[in-house]
Amino acid sequence: ETTLDVAALRAQFPILSTQVDGRPLVYLDSAASTQQPQAVIAAVSDYHRAAHANIHRGNYRLSQHATRLYEHARAAVARFLNAAEPAECVFTRSTTEAINLVAATWGRANLGPGDEILLSNLEHHSNIVPWQMLAEQTGARIRVIPIDDAGDIDLDAYRRLLSPRTRLVGVNQVSNALGTVNPVREIIELAHAHGALVLVDGAQWVAHGRTDVRALDADFYAFSGHKLYGPTGIGVLYAKRALLETMPPYQGGGDMIEQVSFEATRYAAPPTRFEAGTPNISGAVGLGAAIDWIESVGFERISAHEQWLLRHATERLEAIPGLALKGRARRRSCVASWVMEAPAISSLDLGTALDLRGICVRTGHHCCQPLMDRLGVAATVRASFGVYNTLEEIDTLADALIEIADETRARQARVAPVAETA
Ligand code: PMP
Repeated sequence: ETTLDVAALRAQFPILSTQVDGRPLVYLDSAASTQQPQAVIAAVSDYHRAAHANIHRGNYRLSQHATRLYEHARAAVARFLNAAEPAECVFTRSTTEAINLVAATWGRANLGPGDEILLSNLEHHSNIVPWQMLAEQTGARIRVIPIDDAGDIDLDAYRRLLSPRTRLVGVNQVSNALGTVNPVREIIELAHAHGALVLVDGAQWVAHGRTDVRALDADFYAFSGHKLYGPTGIGVLYAKRALLETMPPYQGGGDMIEQVSFEATRYAAPPTRFEAGTPNISGAVGLGAAIDWIESVGFERISAHEQWLLRHATERLEAIPGLALKGRARRRSCVASWVMEAPAISSLDLGTALDLRGICVRTGHHCCQPLMDRLGVAATVRASFGVYNTLEEIDTLADALIEIADETRARQARVAPVAETA
């Protein structure tokens, strides 16, 4: 059961009352990007209308006001993550940039030949490619933590991979392709016992449950605003203060310095050391508003609602003959991933047919090609749910899938005799 007043909540999202070809929009792609509530849209537009100026360097009041809004958003992020202090939260463009920042600064300063980076088989390309680039530059080596057929990380194999050579473990808290919720607390504890640091990719977690970086004892934690009901172009890297202090800068430029001469530059303290140039001020303001908004809904209610949707989706999809659901992890976030095997319909064709009915799902490899290889598929169709989705929308999806499969069967029956006489 759900205790959310979904109708009232949906009314806060202008886009959800729009139509596609005269049909209501059925938005089932929140794992890619969540939609934005009026509170976020208003915060960003109010900022543009009445508070915009470049931050930090102005001695006039408008600039000081914009600076306060930007730093206020950082404080909201710190509270949201339960960081020890706002200075541990660096604004980035995205999860992708947060991970690249760690690889380029901490990684290049600390890794060398023989060092090992452990990455799970569930990772998004953004938590693979930056480490591969780093491995090429430093001679470090990437090793893969395997998963089982259900899509759970093989913790025994992980224990066996850990060694004094392990320097960093990169793992997502939730898999975007299968919805697996990983036991990150345990993964971190094991890594720390071997002296390794852990980067948690929280992109798919933060909108679905409470995050506590200190309870996790995460060394690095990354997420994106656009998966948390906030704007695109803004993300966060959390890192423990002691680590940030030792990390060299990422990009050079304005704002990240204490003093510059042509002979030498002294860098600013964290977090500004890692925020060269004019940042995405309105994005940060929007992210702060998204955090306030999601906290006002409450994670207990969000999680109960989403698990209710997931159970219904699993039941409905399982009942469709010829549809193979992928991912049966012990604990799952609200993601359903499948392949239409009989009649065989490519994920791209299925996605297009669903789009013609106003249903938005994601198709393809979901930026997880190594995971697709492990599953033995080229692609899946993925429906992912947010706090605003309804049981009726899941029924619309399931009914559409049945209809599309029936139409495909009928078409094949018409074509088949011709093929047989040929
Ligand atoms: N990690 C995971 C698990 C994701 O789902 C995504 C977004 N699909 C990313 C990283 C990258 O996020 P962004 O594109 O916002 O950098």
